[in-house]
Amino acid sequence: MNAREERGRAIAAKCRITPKGNVYEVPSQTGNGSYLVNPAREYCSCPDHADSGIVCKHLYAVKFVMSRTGRAASQLNLAN
Ligand SMILES: [Zn+2]
Repeated sequence: MNAREERGRAIAAKCRITPKGNVYEVPSQTGNGSYLVNPAREYCSCPDHADSGIVCKHLYAVKFVMSRTGRAASQLNLAN
């Protein structure tokens, strides 16, 4: 498990992640608002993702929540 994945797991455990249609609202860890995550497109509105296109901690957080709830896990490539 890498550092982002670990932080994502912590976010999923601590924060309220709100489904909004196809996207999820994930609170910012710095306390400034929230980010929108689209797990199907692996998109997040945070600067971390915008800069490099990597799977950020918010995306990981949403994936953890989805796998926990068993929702659409097969779409998320959780196997890799
Ligand atoms: Zn993000």
